[in-house]
Amino acid sequence: MAQQVAEGVYFIQGQDEFIPDSHMYVIGKPDSEDLSLIDAGLMGKGDYKLGSIDSLGIDFTSIKRVIMTHTHLDHIGCLAEMLERIPWAELWVHELEARPLESGDDRIVYGMEMFKSMCMTQYNLKPGSFSFQVDRRLNGGEELELGGIRWEVMHIPGHSPGSIALYDRQRKILIPGDVVYADYAIGRFDLHGASGAEHKKSLFRLGELEVDILLSGHNRIDTNLPPGYIADTAKQWAPYLT
Ligand SMILES: [Zn+2]
Ligand SMILES: [Zn+2]
Repeated sequence: MAQQVAEGVYFIQGQDEFIPDSHMYVIGKPDSEDLSLIDAGLMGKGDYKLGSIDSLGIDFTSIKRVIMTHTHLDHIGCLAEMLERIPWAELWVHELEARPLESGDDRIVYGMEMFKSMCMTQYNLKPGSFSFQVDRRLNGGEELELGGIRWEVMHIPGHSPGSIALYDRQRKILIPGDVVYADYAIGRFDLHGASGAEHKKSLFRLGELEVDILLSGHNRIDTNLPPGYIADTAKQWAPYLT
């Protein structure tokens, strides 16, 4: 399923299995020929994600990069499959997750040892399956002009060390990865490299933004967010985030 959420912002819904598959967003004005994919998804979902992009009438040659909100398995699992079809696309990742990704340290990808062995068996993954060269390291604070739309990069650690959000201040659109979801839910904060205290700070920082359209990594998207929604979510969760 693929749909346009706003001009130059497309939503491709994840196809959850017993492990969730992250949503993917395609950003950039169609005539810019400078499109970015935000996140990939779970192993085996490359054909589905690329097929959905194709169904939007997007020419693959206009896809210039994949930007990861973070590098958990449910977001990066099908990246290699996708890059086989779009090998020219650059990979942009926050510095703190770029380093392990390049050195083949997959502890953030899998999140926990037990999950790693289960997934490797289930999906027939070999050691070193998640070693990637990163073309651009993000730090947070960048103002990116992508396909004719301006996005601010925010570093919002906690769910993972290098989690980022993309924010379109003009249209009040936020792509926060797994840090905050619709319906007052937040991402987990118990995996490798996670921190409840950092997560809390990140939620309160996001809570300062004006957001009408929330495009999270999972669950439903919300295109008519109540005012103060993220700040309220942060307040509700704060006592548990230490
Ligand atoms: Zn995650
Ligand atoms: Zn996720």
